[in-house]
Amino acid sequence: MSLCINSISAQAELAPYAVTESQSRGRRYEEAAPEFRSQFQRDRDRVIHSSAFRRLEYKTQVFVNHEGDMFRTRLTHSLEVSQIARTVARALKLNEDLTEAICLAHDLGHTPFGHAGQKALNACMKDFGGFEHNHQSLRVVDLLEDRYPEFPGLNLLFETREGLLKHCSLERARGLGDLGRRFLDSTQPSLEAQIANVADEIAYNHHDIDDGVRANLLCLEQLLEFSLFRERYEVALRRDRDADPKRMVHSVIREMLNHFVVDLIRSTQTQLRTVAPRTLGDVRMRSEPIVDFHPHVRSQHLALKRILRRDLYYHEQVMNNANRAASVVTELFKAFFDDPRLLLPERVVPKMANCRFKAQIVADYVAGMTDRFAFAEHRRIYSSDTIRVTNGEC
Ligand code: MG
Repeated sequence: MSLCINSISAQAELAPYAVTESQSRGRRYEEAAPEFRSQFQRDRDRVIHSSAFRRLEYKTQVFVNHEGDMFRTRLTHSLEVSQIARTVARALKLNEDLTEAICLAHDLGHTPFGHAGQKALNACMKDFGGFEHNHQSLRVVDLLEDRYPEFPGLNLLFETREGLLKHCSLERARGLGDLGRRFLDSTQPSLEAQIANVADEIAYNHHDIDDGVRANLLCLEQLLEFSLFRERYEVALRRDRDADPKRMVHSVIREMLNHFVVDLIRSTQTQLRTVAPRTLGDVRMRSEPIVDFHPHVRSQHLALKRILRRDLYYHEQVMNNANRAASVVTELFKAFFDDPRLLLPERVVPKMANCRFKAQIVADYVAGMTDRFAFAEHRRIYSSDTIRVTNGEC
């Protein structure tokens, strides 16, 4: 592996435990170094130019894409995660380009219809190793993106790929070589990957509240049950009694977001002083992440998640959509699995005799769909006599 030593980066200013080009474990397929960009910028650019990235625009975050133009999608979610994570990475003198690349790629493997889609596809795949969207993001960048003649996927750096694997079963980790090692050893990824992980949670907690309020599924009374919101709201009310209530709610959400980001930076700085890692190796060897909130703020963060789960994610309207979405995903999987000719040219079908292989092809195809394409495929298949005799052999 040869990495560019002349590329543009601000690595001289990085902390000694940040990921740098000189200690990168490189790419799976060797390539000439880019001009005028760091290797990490190249990864970010490849993610942005991928077709999986463009499809994120039409994939649900919480609200199905057609419900309104103002709600977050997987694409805007990924941008918000990236924006938060870059702030944290820069403040901690870590590799901002790597952090950005991880954040923009972290949901590339997400199914249509958000978590309902992921849950349904996981159930369809239960006899074939299950489905997990973090692992699917890795499949997208390692294999499924088909844009470069020299290699499959995007041929990203080890450190970017490592950052995509937030969770991983031990069984799956055993098949991932170096990349799966840390799940078997209970060690940690880079600080840049740790930041991307927490930034994801901060982003969705806050934009889901914002979207929930916009959709009139969350009301002020529910938000006031959350002590941090209540405190900030009362302060804002004292500041301006005549403020527009809706604007004030958005303003408090913004303040809360800032509160969590600032705390994450400060408490991670404290942690870094305590742990005193000298190298990236010191970071990786630890059993617990270094990037974390103060315990009090962590409990606020968890309380916020509980409120969202109770009042938004399990709201009847959201659940109705989720159930409909789960049926679409399940029925699409079943149709393609039972009759691969719906999906592939007839000459390829004999290769699908291996059930596990067939299930993986179908899962890749369904996971890659946007919400509206999934609906259209479902209509195409189920509203006509397209479905042929099912073989039912697997
Ligand atoms: Mg995410």
